[in-house]
Amino acid sequence: MFNKLIAATLPYMPKKLVWIFSKRYIAGETIADAVRESKKLNDQGIKVTVDLLGEFIKNLDEATENKEAYLEIIETFEANKIDGNYSVKPTFFGLLLDEEVCYQNIRTVVAKAAEYNNFVRIDMEDSPCVDKEIKIFRRLKKEFPQNVGLVVQAYLKRTLDDLNNMMDMQNGVSKLNYRLCKGIYVEPEEIAYKKYEEINEHFLEDLDFMLKNDVYPGIATHDKPLVDGAYKLIEKYNVPKDKYEFQMLYGVTPELRKSIVEKGHTMRVYVPFGKDWFGYSTRRLKENPKMASLIIKALFNR
Ligand code: FAD
Repeated sequence: MFNKLIAATLPYMPKKLVWIFSKRYIAGETIADAVRESKKLNDQGIKVTVDLLGEFIKNLDEATENKEAYLEIIETFEANKIDGNYSVKPTFFGLLLDEEVCYQNIRTVVAKAAEYNNFVRIDMEDSPCVDKEIKIFRRLKKEFPQNVGLVVQAYLKRTLDDLNNMMDMQNGVSKLNYRLCKGIYVEPEEIAYKKYEEINEHFLEDLDFMLKNDVYPGIATHDKPLVDGAYKLIEKYNVPKDKYEFQMLYGVTPELRKSIVEKGHTMRVYVPFGKDWFGYSTRRLKENPKMASLIIKALFNR
């Protein structure tokens, strides 16, 4: 109850206070920060996927700026030989303002990554975006079979159907590559599973589907029971180590991350950076039950 209250008031807390706790979830504000933190992760044998932080945009000029920013990120990361790829949020490129412009913006980013034989992951946003994002993914996958992937959310009741429907895109040359996560947005219960057990059950069902069908999964979770469930499925289907990876968010559950890496599995960390860190980090803080008490301590110990 008290934790929920703190979580609800987080967006109204002084930015400086929120920053104290946000630092662990954000690589920094600049590309140089993101490169530095990515290098540190690479040195630990961990790959990265880089995300420029930003919330909903108000006009298409902002979408163009975001596209330009991503082109700069790609050039910089490739020049620094970072072992990593790129994650994009379609709303950041204009999805809710003009779908065609959004497609063209993301296409330019994917084309740039493809010049380096690299890869762009389309993050999945809230449910009104899902059909639109699948549509964009389909178009891009046709043109760039090796360079684009999508995220799917286990909490959505439609996900297994989506996975089945999208199998038409897979063939010998073009494998499907998804990040599987629980899903972060607040969705109505008509369309989304709400209970922890139900979400986990469907997460493993979706993963089972991917492994059985030779789809490459990015298993994106910090939940130990899901990591253990994934190990079991990997063993059951005898999946080679280059046919899947684990993924985690920067700064979250580093111990569990280390144990996965030590077992020899590929690990990729999502590295968010940028000036717009506030919205992203308040979402992360809300997920972390220990944060409420830490924030209270900080309020009284300044
Ligand atoms: P949970 O049950 O939420 O957490 C399991 C345990 O992990 C918790 O008990 C706690 O110990 C630890 N933990 C979780 N979060 C935190 C935290 N912030 N701080 C400290 N400990 C924590 N969602 C989308 O909807 N779209 C996306 O495109 C998307 N991309 C993602 C990319 C990656 C690489 C990852 C890892 C997640 C992504 N998510 C995305 C978020 C995801 O949907 C979940 O909301 C988030 O990962 C928490 O779910 P969980 O599986 O870790 O399980």
